[in-house]
Amino acid sequence: MRLKQEYFFVSAGIQSIIRTYKKLRLPMASLAEKVAIHINDTHPALCVPELMRILLDEEGMDWDPAWDVTVKVLSYTNHTIMSEALESWPVDMISTLLPRIFQIICEIDHRYAEKMSHLYDQAITERTRIIENGNVKMAHLAIIGSHSINGVAKLHTNILKEKVLHDFFLIFPSRFNNKTNGITHRRWLLLSNEPLRSLIDSKIGKDWETKPTDLKMLEAFRDDERTLMNLAEIKWTNKQRFADHIKKTMGLTIRTDAIFDVQIKRFHAYKRQLLNLLHILSLYFKLKDDPHADVYPRVFIFGGKAAPSYTYAKEIIKLINAAADLINHDQAIEDKLKVVFVENYGVSLAERIIPAADVSEQISLASKEASGTSNMKFMLNGAVTLATLDGANVEIRDRVGEENIVLFGLTDKDVYQYYSDRSYHSYDYYKNNPLLHRVLDALIDGTIPGVQAEGRDIFDSLIKYGDEYFVLRDFEDYALAQRRVDQLYREPLKWHKMALINIANAGVFSSDYTVLRYASDIWDVYSKTRFF
Ligand SMILES: *Cc1c(COP(=O)(O)O)cnc(C)c1O
Repeated sequence: MRLKQEYFFVSAGIQSIIRTYKKLRLPMASLAEKVAIHINDTHPALCVPELMRILLDEEGMDWDPAWDVTVKVLSYTNHTIMSEALESWPVDMISTLLPRIFQIICEIDHRYAEKMSHLYDQAITERTRIIENGNVKMAHLAIIGSHSINGVAKLHTNILKEKVLHDFFLIFPSRFNNKTNGITHRRWLLLSNEPLRSLIDSKIGKDWETKPTDLKMLEAFRDDERTLMNLAEIKWTNKQRFADHIKKTMGLTIRTDAIFDVQIKRFHAYKRQLLNLLHILSLYFKLKDDPHADVYPRVFIFGGKAAPSYTYAKEIIKLINAAADLINHDQAIEDKLKVVFVENYGVSLAERIIPAADVSEQISLASKEASGTSNMKFMLNGAVTLATLDGANVEIRDRVGEENIVLFGLTDKDVYQYYSDRSYHSYDYYKNNPLLHRVLDALIDGTIPGVQAEGRDIFDSLIKYGDEYFVLRDFEDYALAQRRVDQLYREPLKWHKMALINIANAGVFSSDYTVLRYASDIWDVYSKTRFF
């Protein structure tokens, strides 16, 4: 059904485009002068054979000019390096459901292999072919059929070039380019954070609303105590508003003088919500051992959904909820620690939560998060980012400087080094770190009620099955980074100065600029629109 759906939308879209183009009475060979079609992720990769089908079968073109037009019209964005997410379809399924499309895919594959066999060695040609042992690789189809292939953050594009798509980079170096993702500052500031919008208007005028890089002018107020205290008040107002919402919807009381520490995103092992939870459990035990331990009050906020079939992600959700139940109802903790898991996370909730956040959790295993965009939304709303050097976090660091972001953990290079020398042994971290040992045991010894099976599965994923996402490896460094957050928050002027510098440097991440760069570098939109 998914394959039918993908083909349905691709075919309807391209037929509509061709019908519109034909009204101009221009030759089909000049299609690329007026039309750009973007393959956004692998899901519409059938654009390649479908456009060829229409040019060949319905417009009567020969193969070579049709292929020339197709490659000029199409471009492709890669959104992830996670191999599970790269689509491939069984040859049997495509040939049965879409026989003509399958014929064309075979012809593209055959001609590609034939051409490359004269230019490169056998191995690289075989590794980059579209059809490989009975499957059609949609990413390969999209790359071979497009004049542009882009990643969504500088780090991600470099990993595509050097690792994941290295063979294609050797063959088509000029097709590769980067387009760092962006966010719309209209939704994520103007509409969702009215108090902050007014403050900024009062300080630098309204021009930044249509030219978001002008937010940079806020930096003139970096040492202005009044402005910093205005920022503090606005954050408090937004935290109060969110606390009221939580009281009303969940019946849970959270204190607004606590640090609001937020991780909201889809649930996935690589995003490491588990790392966050293990640290929360370590704080819980610290306070259980010594109720007067020097821990600044925190509210940990989680939100997110798991894909319907993703059992492990659902187990993490259940574990966080069980831990929240335990911690929130433990009188000994008073209200130094609260864990909130918001139900049914989506954009509307994000618009309430992000303006209220003090800390933005961006803790994916380095190399796995292609870009991330909630990192940008939080920054724009004056949260301090706690992050690994992954995706667009790297570019956020470059903009705000090391002193205005809290970094920890392995780098992408460290991770690839571990892959090549196979030297990571998660059990050593369990064995040698007593705090980590205690936290992990809590998953299986009944400390957290009602999660016997889930606790065991998660424990085993870390200890028995090698901890694929280096959670235990990064635990200690993460806890230290969280300690730095705790200390920084105790100095309000320093903290709100960090917040101000984050807001002032978030303008470059407006999607207005991202769209502009796609339009000029990839779609060549200005010359295409002139004659319409
Ligand atoms: C921005 C956004 C995302 C993306 O979040 P990441 O942390 O970058 O993965 C996901 N869901 C919603 C509702 C969002 O608004």
